[in-house]
Amino acid sequence: MYVYLNGKIVPSKEAVVSVFDHGFLYGDGVYETMRVYDGVIFMIDEHIRRLYRSASMIGLTIPLETDLLKISIYETLIANRLKNAYVRLTVSRGHGDIGLDPELCTKPTIVIIVQKLKEYPRAFYKNGISLIIPETRKNLREAINPRIKSLNFLNNILAKIEAKKRDAYEAVMLNVYGKLTEGTISNVFFYENGILCTPSPACGILDGITRGIVIDLARREGFKVEEGEFTKDDIYSAVEVFITNTTLEVMPVSKVDDQGYAVGKITKLLHKTYRQEVNAYMANVRAGLFQHLRKSMC
Ligand code: PLP
Repeated sequence: MYVYLNGKIVPSKEAVVSVFDHGFLYGDGVYETMRVYDGVIFMIDEHIRRLYRSASMIGLTIPLETDLLKISIYETLIANRLKNAYVRLTVSRGHGDIGLDPELCTKPTIVIIVQKLKEYPRAFYKNGISLIIPETRKNLREAINPRIKSLNFLNNILAKIEAKKRDAYEAVMLNVYGKLTEGTISNVFFYENGILCTPSPACGILDGITRGIVIDLARREGFKVEEGEFTKDDIYSAVEVFITNTTLEVMPVSKVDDQGYAVGKITKLLHKTYRQEVNAYMANVRAGLFQHLRKSMC
């Protein structure tokens, strides 16, 4: 396996980061996860844009043009000869003396890891996964804004530990006001009274790229979508529940705490249209590539 580290693609054994890296010492950095379908990185521009947004929200300047970063991801993918993969792009503050001052670090550390995609079991999509609402509350937006996709994941890890203890796959946290927010690695949706509901960014969530696509698709399909403030009783009384993220896509939920749900037709329809969207995106990227090649041959 090959890893991109600060401008070089090296064997993974040689991809080593300093123990003085502030990403390691303080969780000071940002990241993105992308999914590669048959050699095409889905929504690469949106992920890169969000990475730069996260970096700017913590006052971190990424010392690379976006185009060069995109090329580097593709180069890492090619070096690993992978077509269906998971990409993890991390930018930390870099190494520097011990201390919180970001100015102790002069050069950010950039790492790109690509791995063969581990498909989720088919049974998950057929039967749904289980969720809990944990005791751990979501970080306050005013403390660490969840819109920053940061390396500081302890809040979510504590919720995940609770989920594992209760034999659940994912935990959807409430904020300190008792409103639903998001999962540890996902956004949540539920269908109730003819409306597709999802917590609004104001509740303190990451504005997931998959979430955005699903909202657009649902509206295009004629569903009313409400981004709002919801309580756990709202999700308990829903008829369908699902979660979304880049690798899970649209994953049905069969249980939230003790409340059970059938895998319903709205979830199935949205997963199907999401897949169609992925295929259309791939076709578009390929068409653009051919056009570019044709032009360069003339
Ligand atoms: N919320 C959190 C906390 C996440 O970590 C993720 C993805 O990793 C998401 C939501 C979903 O985001 P996306 O759809 O962009 O993958």
